[in-house]
Amino acid sequence: MKYKQKRFYKKNQIHKKILLLILCIVATGGILAFGLSPVALFSFSSNDTKEIGQIDFDVPYEALEKAMDLDIQSSDEKNHIDWVDTLAYLACKYDGDFKKYSAKDIDSFAATLREDKTLSSLVKNWDSFTYYQKAYDTILGNFLGNYKIQTPIDEDGSVVWTESYGLKAFSPIADGYIYTDYDDFGTGRTYGYKRKHLGHDMMVDIGTPIVAIESGTVKSVGWNEYGGWQIGIQSFDEQRYYYYAHLQKDHPYSANLHEGTAVQAGDVIGYSGRTGYSTKENVNNIDTPHLHVGMRLTFDVTQKDSSNQVWIDMYALTKLLSKNRSQVYIVEETKEYYRSYNFSEPSYYQQQQLLDDTANLRRQNELLMNIVISKNPTQETIGEVSAESNNEGILVPIIMYHGLIKDPVEQTKYFISPSYFENDLIYLAEHGYTTIFMEDLIAYVETGATLPEKPIILSFDDGYYNNYYYAYPLLREYNAKAVISIIGKFTDDFSLLRENNVIYSHITWDQINEMIASGHVEIQNHTYNLHTFNNGRNGAAQKSGEVIASYKTFLESDVGLLQEKIIESTGNTPTTFAYPFGFISKDSDNILKEMGFKATLSCTEGINYIKRDPDALFHLKRDLRPPGKSSAQYFKEMGIE
Ligand SMILES: [Zn+2]
Ligand SMILES: [Zn+2]
Repeated sequence: MKYKQKRFYKKNQIHKKILLLILCIVATGGILAFGLSPVALFSFSSNDTKEIGQIDFDVPYEALEKAMDLDIQSSDEKNHIDWVDTLAYLACKYDGDFKKYSAKDIDSFAATLREDKTLSSLVKNWDSFTYYQKAYDTILGNFLGNYKIQTPIDEDGSVVWTESYGLKAFSPIADGYIYTDYDDFGTGRTYGYKRKHLGHDMMVDIGTPIVAIESGTVKSVGWNEYGGWQIGIQSFDEQRYYYYAHLQKDHPYSANLHEGTAVQAGDVIGYSGRTGYSTKENVNNIDTPHLHVGMRLTFDVTQKDSSNQVWIDMYALTKLLSKNRSQVYIVEETKEYYRSYNFSEPSYYQQQQLLDDTANLRRQNELLMNIVISKNPTQETIGEVSAESNNEGILVPIIMYHGLIKDPVEQTKYFISPSYFENDLIYLAEHGYTTIFMEDLIAYVETGATLPEKPIILSFDDGYYNNYYYAYPLLREYNAKAVISIIGKFTDDFSLLRENNVIYSHITWDQINEMIASGHVEIQNHTYNLHTFNNGRNGAAQKSGEVIASYKTFLESDVGLLQEKIIESTGNTPTTFAYPFGFISKDSDNILKEMGFKATLSCTEGINYIKRDPDALFHLKRDLRPPGKSSAQYFKEMGIE
């Protein structure tokens, strides 16, 4: 039972991390990254009774559903009944023939385990138990687990983050789109050569948003003769490869999907169509529009590219997954769909931390920011605070922007059209809001200065050149203020390069001085060069196992360097520190406080309730301004009216 122990070890690790996470949330109210743990690859002993390559996944939907429900129900019980164990038990009992399936067998299996009978005593006479357990764990092992997702709580669109244990893989068809299917795995196909159908077809209308079933890395995007426009995504544990084919002519993929991109389960990855059966690209040769979805197992790294491919019948699986469908919304200007509710799961963070941070910095930053933004551990309701009112404090929303860009191809969740920003400025002015700087808020708290009646802070992270190019003229036009938190290294680099590209350039010291002089922009500190995931460090956070004294020295030297540079170049001393990706450790705020910072900005969503207490200025909440929502819709959802 060597393998079994390994699997329990993995699960216990995750439980420990979640416990640790909860402790840290209690201790700091902050954000903590899940630690790294090595991704275990399976090795198979030679005494397995079957070769794993022979696997035939024919577990019926009813058995999957019942075993899953039992797993979820028992997740809080003393004896957690893992669905993989239940299904492996049934496979042994039926000698691999699931036509013998009876729901009663699961009931009696559960009853026996609940009487404290051990699993090993139940299966000790079955040599093939370990084989089935391995096989089913490879297929299903990541479908259930702990995850967090934004959940709507009322019609205004307010959301809370809820954490649960359950089905965390998604149906490939977005919520609200009808599909029809039947079990077509292994049926004959004749285009090209005579072969078997190694996937599952889901009949849908053209243009239906297609969603990633599981989180993973995009391994292949492009045309192939059979699949037309296709996407291949490998799960982060490298054990499953998902193939999505026949995507839409002219607009097959969601924006910014490239080889190497990391996607989360439930993300929109493309649009259904009827492309394929042609050596020529972008040709519709399939009669019935449908999504062809396949799952290929990869048992070890060496087998990945071999011809000995194991494809899984996904008919019953997709039916099970239809219990978990991703809700999406469209951005009219770009005709792109996005998921409505952010999601996070532990393995995603682990894999994100392993990404090579020297690759495409901007793209990676988006992905990494995505983790943190979707990792808000608080259970607060966005907008809920606005109902409160108290003489002692005031409500101060802080909006978070990053880049502004006109080219729709470059637009993402973090690079939005300048028109959103302009409309936001108009909306806020019309509703009596006054944009303020951090120094205004700090003066309110520290010296008793007054603030306008409805204050709001507009913050921009990373110091992109497009802030200067698009946001700055709008700030002047609408007489508004914004706070830009810069990454020192990039400002230094681009001050030398003098390359003004709205996509990737950062603002120079000259541009910074021009904006400060205008009175419309305040510059703050976003680290000199810690906007990275380097050597196990997440942004500016403490590394696991790092002693506090060395962390303090490390943080002070980087953040202090940017302080010096800003003072030297502008004559101003930044008062506020914005945490890269929102990563914070227990002692971070205190170290920054000792360095003289008066405030820190987090990526935790919500509206701040500020009393005249200097501590109220640390770990301030911010709300990401996403694309696809009008200013009225976006601000109303936050209670900004
Ligand atoms: Zn197909
Ligand atoms: Zn940033």
